[in-house]
Amino acid sequence: MATAIITGASQGIGACIAERLAKDGFDVVINHYPSDSDREKALAVAERCRTYGVKAECVPADVSDFGQCEAMVKQVKAEFGSIDALVNNAGITKDGLLARMKESDYDAVIAVNQKSVYNMMKHVCSVMMKQRHGRIVNVSSVAGLYGNAGQVNYSASKAAIIGMTKTVAKEFGSRNITCNAVAPGFIHTPMTDVLSEELKNKMLGAVALGRYGEPEEIASVVSFLVSDDSSYVTGQVIEISGGLSM
Ligand code: NAP
Repeated sequence: MATAIITGASQGIGACIAERLAKDGFDVVINHYPSDSDREKALAVAERCRTYGVKAECVPADVSDFGQCEAMVKQVKAEFGSIDALVNNAGITKDGLLARMKESDYDAVIAVNQKSVYNMMKHVCSVMMKQRHGRIVNVSSVAGLYGNAGQVNYSASKAAIIGMTKTVAKEFGSRNITCNAVAPGFIHTPMTDVLSEELKNKMLGAVALGRYGEPEEIASVVSFLVSDDSSYVTGQVIEISGGLSM
């Protein structure tokens, strides 16, 4: 059985990806931030994943911490035997215009959204290299492609992920490891639920399909990118935004 690790999978897009990959037949590792409330939500995600007859385990780790990522990868390798897919999904926002953005808010977003991707790929790639097989999907954002006022920290982190994705695709292609990114637009999750109605309506005006995306619509593209069907796709960024950028 193939194993997939999904970071930040206690809710939102990550939880949905975990369920979709379980449905596809992957044993799933549901990483969550080490807090009681995240644990509770992650356990519920694992229950739903198990209904597809696969193994599902919740592993707490703050993915911005190099040592915690290393320990998680070691634990997964020991318990599951292989790591076939990694989805770097964990992310946060701490929005504000540049003039007002605190250094701590800049650093926090870079640590969780960007450094985490290094932390996880560094440890997982050494496992995948020995297997001579692996699929990595990094969750970027349209903010990383086009920028977004009020998100200099977030857009920096999401743009960096795109560079990292292409670099890892080049470094590990000869080992049969693919690395791609998805760049979601406005997706209906707890992260966007907090935005004002005014801002939501303004954003929707730029979306060709005229609606928010659903987490399932991100999960289906990730499902393709970790499957054998995408065996000749690497170093790509797939925008999933309902036609935001045409
Ligand atoms: P979400 O509902 O807030 O989920 C993000 C998950 O990441 C949460 O479970 C969160 O846990 C977890 N997380 C945060 N910091 C972590 C850490 N240090 N270690 C481990 N887990 C951590 O957001 P979402 O909308 O599903 O977003 C998922 C990904 O898609 C993010 O990378 C986001 O940037 C990206 N994205 C989302 C949209 C959108 O419109 N929703 C658009 C483009 C890109 P806590 O709840 O404890 O923080």
